[in-house]
Amino acid sequence: MLTIDGSYGEGGGQIVRTAVALSVLTKQPIEITNIRAGRPIPGLRPQHYTALSCIRTICDAEVEGLSIHSANLRFTPRDIKPGTYTFDIGTAGSMTLVFQACLLSAFHSSAPLTIVLRGGTDVRWAPSWDYFTHVFLPLISKIGIKTDIKLLKRGYYPTGGGEASLTIHPVKKLLPFSAQEPQSFTELSGIIHRANLPDHISIRMKHAAIKAAMKKNLRSTIQIDAAPSSSPGTGITLWSESERTIIGSTVLGEKTLSAEAVGETAANLLIQEITSGATLDRYAIDQILPYLALAPRGSACLIREISNHTHTNMWLIKQFFPIDFEVTPQQNALRIVVK
Ligand code: ATP
Repeated sequence: MLTIDGSYGEGGGQIVRTAVALSVLTKQPIEITNIRAGRPIPGLRPQHYTALSCIRTICDAEVEGLSIHSANLRFTPRDIKPGTYTFDIGTAGSMTLVFQACLLSAFHSSAPLTIVLRGGTDVRWAPSWDYFTHVFLPLISKIGIKTDIKLLKRGYYPTGGGEASLTIHPVKKLLPFSAQEPQSFTELSGIIHRANLPDHISIRMKHAAIKAAMKKNLRSTIQIDAAPSSSPGTGITLWSESERTIIGSTVLGEKTLSAEAVGETAANLLIQEITSGATLDRYAIDQILPYLALAPRGSACLIREISNHTHTNMWLIKQFFPIDFEVTPQQNALRIVVK
């Protein structure tokens, strides 16, 4: 049994989700110790519990220590069972993180598999729904992962109540990802979501983002998605696409932030990535890393910086595979090549 120290590096939920997903993919039983030791309330929280319950169900795994607050988990996977599965996180815990964990576990399934979830679609410290659908999923589709998604309702902190589904199609062939030269990003797309809040919030957010982008000669097309939800909430996701890649940014609205600050910050975050020469943004890299490791060798990209999440995921992936991530400076960015 492979033992993974859950307190390593970032010491958060990502180690648990990624380790369990890689356990299913490699059929390698694992034990995770010191789960989320780096967080103020350590152990499993509802979002991690749901992700693991979901994965346990879809592969009929033998599991010990799966409960809220648990700091130790033993997980022995079996084969993935295609079908439709429904889970409720029960809080505003991030649905996109649960979907990501299921997707990494199940993309090798022999037949389609659908996960229906309730929880939070747009919550802090996690990919927003629009980042998931317009940045993460299109990026991994370049590696050969095919999915269908449906959003029924957004869910925000504190009540959650969002509803969405993800269908994972059997993968035909994984392809290396190659974006190792700075790209030309000239246009910016975006979605502002808003629920149970007045119109002027999204209009002000949109104008601020467009204005910030224009200063760097980026043309923007930003849509507004307004629909009721169980709690009020808003935010913006922006992305820019080149022939080879997509980079994105997300800012969630907060009571203490003006709509202008939210829009302008999202545009400036994206501009910061673009001007560094990065071909993957600082969040996409840690999320896509397991797929780069599974694809044929030779994937390469440029990133602005190595976040603690990325460093931790590199370490974790190396526990499962004889692989290396070569990191070398290239002008204002870092070049990563999977060896
Ligand atoms: P914990 O509660 O321990 O923090 P968690 O599972 O909720 O656990 P992390 O382990 O920190 O969270 O993982 C968060 C994931 O969300 C990372 O993959 C990170 O890249 C992603 N993420 C965080 N913020 C953003 C953002 N603004 N845009 C896109 N992705 C994000």
